[in-house]
Amino acid sequence: GSLVDREAEKDSEAAIVTFSDTKYSTMTMSEQRKQLPVYKHRTEILYLLENYQVVVLVGQTGSGKTTQIPQYLHESGWTAGGRMVACTQPRRVAATTVAQRVAEEMQVNLGMEVGYTIRFEDCTDPGGKTRIKYMTDGMLFREALMDPLLSQYSVIMLDEAHERTLYTDILMGVLKKILKKRPELRIIISSATLDAEAFAAFFSTNRDPNDKSKDNTAILSVQGRMYPVDVHYLAEPTSNYIETAIQTVFDIHTKEPVGDILVFMTGRDEIEEVVSEIRERATTLPPNKYAEILALPIYAGLPTEEQMLVFEPVEKGTRKVVVATNVAEASVTIPGIGFVIDSGFVKIRAYNPQTGMEALTTTTISQASADQRSGRAGRIRNGKAYRLYTRESFEQEMRPASVPEIQRSNLAGMVLQLKALGIENVLRFDFMTSPPAEMMSKALELLYSLKALDNYGRLTIPFGMRLAEFPLDPMLGKILLDSQAFGCSQEMLTIASMVSVQNIFVNATSPAAEEQHRKFGVLEGDHITLLNVYAAFVTRGKKSSKWCANHLINFKAMSRALSIRSHLERYLVKTLGLTGPSQLPSCLSTDGSKLSDPKEATVKIRKCLVSGYFAQAAKIAPDGTHWISALEARPKGARALSYTPTKLWMHPTSILFKQTPQWVIFHEVVETSKGKAYMREVTTIDPEWLGELAPHFYVLKKQL
Ligand code: ADP
Ligand code: MG
Repeated sequence: GSLVDREAEKDSEAAIVTFSDTKYSTMTMSEQRKQLPVYKHRTEILYLLENYQVVVLVGQTGSGKTTQIPQYLHESGWTAGGRMVACTQPRRVAATTVAQRVAEEMQVNLGMEVGYTIRFEDCTDPGGKTRIKYMTDGMLFREALMDPLLSQYSVIMLDEAHERTLYTDILMGVLKKILKKRPELRIIISSATLDAEAFAAFFSTNRDPNDKSKDNTAILSVQGRMYPVDVHYLAEPTSNYIETAIQTVFDIHTKEPVGDILVFMTGRDEIEEVVSEIRERATTLPPNKYAEILALPIYAGLPTEEQMLVFEPVEKGTRKVVVATNVAEASVTIPGIGFVIDSGFVKIRAYNPQTGMEALTTTTISQASADQRSGRAGRIRNGKAYRLYTRESFEQEMRPASVPEIQRSNLAGMVLQLKALGIENVLRFDFMTSPPAEMMSKALELLYSLKALDNYGRLTIPFGMRLAEFPLDPMLGKILLDSQAFGCSQEMLTIASMVSVQNIFVNATSPAAEEQHRKFGVLEGDHITLLNVYAAFVTRGKKSSKWCANHLINFKAMSRALSIRSHLERYLVKTLGLTGPSQLPSCLSTDGSKLSDPKEATVKIRKCLVSGYFAQAAKIAPDGTHWISALEARPKGARALSYTPTKLWMHPTSILFKQTPQWVIFHEVVETSKGKAYMREVTTIDPEWLGELAPHFYVLKKQL
């Protein structure tokens, strides 16, 4: 808000036009830095950190918390003597874009003094020069496994704490423990909303409410100037928010003065659709009458260079329309936004303890989120927010705040890692908000059935420990660790990397892409099909972008798979105590392009998949149109918790889409906003393997 001068506030058309981002972009970086609301609090922040172990910082998005505070710490000696400042982000996109921005501000190369670490990508200096490290919250938690006191860091900033992601919540409990052993460590909890008291109370060691001097925790509010935002609701609910959003963009564009537009959608597919529609319809506007429109996407799967485009200033007379996921709600600030269009939806990962399944689902946002989103329009002057839902729906259907992730996630990975940190009784762990007991039980049960825990709930040695350290979820991790015994480690490394990247095929459901997809396809299902795509890419395709273009394959996704694969390979070699990758067995012939004994090899691969994915098995329904989760076939017994059978459909991008295999296992479930659950990455199996490879989990084959 501080970028505009007082005159501009006098709200005339002229004042609005006078204000433009040109002014912003002609300021030097260091001038820009001093304009940010946190700058006024620089001394105060540094003072509080000298005197308090934990500082809770509240400030609107865009006030400079993420980009500035780590720099203040660096400038004032907190990184001297080889120590580092960590700043965690709930999202990968935020960690990478913010690190890039800060490197620019400090005029250093990204990956040197300023770096970032996200899963499968470490952009920090191997020589130890990195002083400020942006990272996902999951990565910091993982570092605690290797270094339980996080001894490299002098200050740890848990950023965007209001988002209440699983790992931010867990880190709060872990850091509270570490503080007892490292009194000199400093924690900053930063939040965009006014829930500071709850965070402070969690960390406070003061038992005497009348004596504040005993407190180890301080709260500081760095409210920047915010301009009022006019909120508009729909009079009637829309049945197609995508179309309504596009129309609203053009309404704004043709009727409103300058100011960029930020549109909130739920995910990649929608975003790409909206962006290309806007680009197309923009060409039909009468020329010379309106400004140009520049529509840009931003979401997690987008390559970093493309993500950075949304931050670039546009030419005068062009209106930027940024179509974003929730990442633009708080984690990243795009300068120049005057209008917000809010679909009212968000895509989240949610675990349903009844069905025992975690699905990527689209749900209604909370009122707090809606207000955050609208607020993004009021950073530079009075703004407008268009909510694509009714006022009644906001007031009556939206919950006040989002449910913390810890209360709606599959907790298996987290429980396993807590055990590896030496926290035996995870039920008694100091959670900021405790997860429901049933979800903890289900996580423990799954870990037991994966053989990561023993009968007493202790981590098994070495298997459970290895699994905890492996950078994949426990099911996929087990598959890789078991692959040595099945003789197919090379193949499993490829499969695990390919399922870790999304959107291998460009426009996957177009007829042309389907035709290409079929060339690699096998009736055993998607995992082996992905293996074929990868093998062709590295052999015939010579890892080239041209080959990918010819086969409608996403080159960026393939490059990421290559890089993930080499990461995983290194981990696996190390974890298994081998001397090099050549010791990892393969069931393919030596040229790597064909299965040596296809039948035998695919059985090995599929059995290996079952050894980890057995809990995600499904059987075809009698009418053959869908599948039913196999969990109701569980034995009744002390450990067997109850599950409700779920209907599952084949995802249209699966190679098995038009097939009717009797039994399958799948990598994940995606749910539409209407609650229909689709299996993604599916492989056919023999049900006998379930009894053979997961006898704890399934009744004997006869009963299936
Ligand atoms: P906060 O963490 O308080 O939300 P940030 O530190 O992320 O705020 O951002 C501070 C300011 O820096 C923003 O208002 C924005 O104008 C600017 N900024 C942040 N990232 C970029 C970027 N990549 N390019 C240009 N400006 C940026
Ligand atoms: Mg921030």
